[in-house]
Order: sequence, then C-alpha cells, then structure tokens
Amino acid sequence: MTRSRYHEFNAPSGWNAMLPARRPRPAITGAHKAKYAIVGAGYTGVAAARRLIELDPRAEVILVDASTVGEGSSGRNSGFTRPIELPIELTAANAGKVGKVGRFNQEGFAYLHGIIEAHGIDCGLTRAGVIRGAATELGEGRLRASHAVLQEMGQESTLLRRADMEDRVGTAYYRCGLYVPESYLLQPAALIRGLADSLPAGVALYERSLVRKLARREKWHLELDGASVLADHVILATNAYIKQFGYLLDRLVATYTYAAITEPMGPADSARIGSMPAWGILPAHRMGTTCRRVGRDRLLVRSLASYEGELSPAAVREGLMKKYLARWPHLSHVGLEHVWGGATAFTMNGSPWWGRLDDGLYASGGCNGAGITKGTLLGKRLAELITGHGDHAALAEAFGRASWIAPEPFRTIGYKVISRKELKRAGAEA
Ligand SMILES: Cc1cc2nc3c(=O)[nH]c(=O)nc-3n(C[C@H](O)[C@H](O)[C@H](O)COP(=O)(O)OP(=O)(O)OC[C@H]3O[C@@H](n4cnc5c(N)ncnc54)[C@H](O)[C@@H]3O)c2cc1C
Repeated sequence: MTRSRYHEFNAPSGWNAMLPARRPRPAITGAHKAKYAIVGAGYTGVAAARRLIELDPRAEVILVDASTVGEGSSGRNSGFTRPIELPIELTAANAGKVGKVGRFNQEGFAYLHGIIEAHGIDCGLTRAGVIRGAATELGEGRLRASHAVLQEMGQESTLLRRADMEDRVGTAYYRCGLYVPESYLLQPAALIRGLADSLPAGVALYERSLVRKLARREKWHLELDGASVLADHVILATNAYIKQFGYLLDRLVATYTYAAITEPMGPADSARIGSMPAWGILPAHRMGTTCRRVGRDRLLVRSLASYEGELSPAAVREGLMKKYLARWPHLSHVGLEHVWGGATAFTMNGSPWWGRLDDGLYASGGCNGAGITKGTLLGKRLAELITGHGDHAALAEAFGRASWIAPEPFRTIGYKVISRKELKRAGAEA
C-alpha cells in the first residue's frame, strides 16, 4: 500500500484567475466500482478518459483530481504547443529522433485539435509560430545550427536579426531569433477546463478528491477522504506525483518552474510590446526564460526552477520581475498582476515514462516542458494500450524510455551541481 504526498501550490494559476469563475464538480463520496479509474485530470488524464470511452463505450470511467480543473499544472503552463518538437539544440545527430517523435506529436496535436474544434473550446488557439530567442553567442550558434538542420529537413524557419526581434516583440534584448511558423499558442487553463467539461457521459469527474492510498487487493483500491474506488484498471496520470505512490522513484524528478503575467497595459504601452499581435519566445538554453504576449495588452514571463519543492513567493516575484525588466526596461511602471508556480516531471534523458507498471496499473509522466501535446498523445495511447487497440512498439521506440536516476543523496547533489553549472552557462538566456 502506498500513501500520497501531494503538493498544493503556493499561489493560484494566473491563467485560471483571468477566466470567469467555474463551478467545480463535487468531490467523490462513498464506495464506487468502475472498470477504469484515472488519478489526475490534467492533459494526460482527460485524454485517457475520453479515449477509453471512445474505445469501450459501455464502460464507466472514474476520473479524480486532488485540485480543481485549471489549478493543476495543465492550467499553469505557458501555453506553447506544436505538432513538431523543436529541441533547444537541433543537430544532424538528433534530427532523426525529432522526425520520428514528430510523427507521434502530430497524432497528439491532431487529436487535441479535433476535440477543440468539435466542442468549440474557446482557448485562444492561435498559429502564432514560435521564436527561439538567443541573447548570447552560445545561443546564437545553436539557432544558426538549428536553422540549417530545419532547412535540410524541409521545415520552414526564418532567422531574425536583433532589429527584426525588436520590431516583432518590442525588446532589443535578443541578438537574434529563429522563427518557426508551425507552432501554436493558447490559454492553458481555458483549454483544460474545456477538455474536462466536454468529457463524454461515461466519464465521472470528481474534483477536490485526493487519492491518499493505492493498494492491490483482488482489484486496485483507491482510498480518498470519505470515499473509495475499486477498479480493474488504474491510470496514474499525476505526472511528477506518480512518485507519491512509490513508482518511478528512480526515473522522475519533480521540478518546479514559475510564471507571471503583467497587469493590462494601456494602448501606448501595448504598442511597445511588438508589431506581432501574437508571439512567443522560447529560450536557447534549458535554464532560459520563456516570454509571450497574452492578448493585446499583457506579457507573460516564465523562468526560474527549483527541485522537488517550490521557492518562496517573494523570491519568485523578485526573480521574475528581474527577467521581465531585463527585457522590457521601458515598461517598469507595469507591474506583475499574477505570479505562480507549477510542477513538471523531468527525466534524465528527456524521454517520458509511459506504459504498464503492474497488472492493471498504468502511468505516463515526464513530458518535461511539452505536456500539452505529448500528455494528450500519451494519455490517448495508454487508453489504446489498456483496451488492446493499436501497436505501440514504434511509439515506444521513437520516444525511448526514461533512464535511471541515481538515488539520494547523489540525486540532490547531482541536480544542484548540474543546475548551477548550466545556469552559469546559460548567462543572459536565463
Ligand atoms: C510554468 C510552466 C510552464 C510550462 N509551459 C509549457 C508549455 O508552454 N507547453 C507545454 O506543452 N507544457 C508546458 N509545461 C508543462 C506542462 O504543464 C505539463 O507537461 C503538463 O501539465 C503535464 O500534464 P499531465 O496531465 O501529465 O500532468 P498535470 O498537469 O500535472 O496533471 C496531474 C494532475 O494530477 C493531480 N494529482 C496529483 N496527485 C494526485 C492525487 N494523489 N490524487 C488526485 N489527483 C492528483 C493534480 O492535481 C493534477 O491536476 C509547463 C509547466 C509549467 C509548470
């Protein structure tokens, strides 16, 4: 039997706060039985739930989440999603893997896009393209190399000079950029709300329902406060929190990262955040800072990282303010209205962990910073695996398997040493 150690975030999601109030589904009470139970109503869990009903329409699916929809990390991210993954360093050596994985990401994106269209989910999905921004010589070298490889792959991309960047995004901070048009921006809390609220009738969604214990008896037994669920099949769609149930301790690391959205700006300031009506910048280093325009009149900055726990709210606000002011010093009179953190599950080699943990027990986690498309894909594919649909060997081969991570205390020491070294190397990209 394993017990949960769930982390409640220090601050609400800014994205969720900007939406009209939503009435959460009630918490689960009493004893339940279901063919399928899913823990976690983020992108992975809702995709798995929907696909299970598509493939097994008469089954009952119980989907529980400790929080309310929109307050998990699926409602806390920066809202970049793309059918083709663009690694920070695209080289001739990793281009083959990118191509192979891209085929599956396209499947995940097409599934997500189909649901958004079918249910009219108003999440601001915009084909804004993505800019990789470089503020250092190292970053510029990476962008130039990526550009050459993209050209060889037949993928459209454009190199932007400092002046182009300044025109497009209103800051001269970046020495260059690489613009890739096949990429999308969206409002993540609106997306996860829309996905959860349009689930088919066979899915019973319960919010504010923390699974405290998971045990194998004849079937899988989930224990919650004042409730229990007995299920033939259980999916742990809890990403970084799969570890709370005693699984994948040597595969996943919970990393927290942070975001802020400014106050709305007046028309004069809005005109100074670039000529493009929608844009997003991903960094040229993994410890770097992400920025995007939010609507016409706000900016988002995502940066900073911490290991297995959140930084203090004061440190987060101060740290994000520094990143914002370094890029848009002329907007120092515009404050940060929403500041929050979220969790991601990182793996040592960047591959997610996906599949069967035990008889009737499945999990997917470790989508790193790309869970909108990848979580959707892997949730969908887990449902197919469980119901015996499709062949998943090519997917497993393309993504690879999350590799082994050393136990404590080596893990913490290793994380600290590597992140300090990488942060120094990132320089102005951070
Ligand atoms: C600041 C930030 C920026 C990011 N930017 C991007 C981006 O631009 N694009 C992108 O694709 N990805 C981005 N990510 C990553 C993305 O948010 C994740 O990959 C994604 O949320 C993973 O989805 P998931 O469904 O697997 O897990 P989650 O979204 O973490 O969902 C897991 C759910 O499980 C629930 N849960 C956990 N434990 C329990 C329990 N014991 N009982 C019941 N419920 C439980 C949680 O409440 C949660 O809702 C970002 C992440 C952060 C934090």
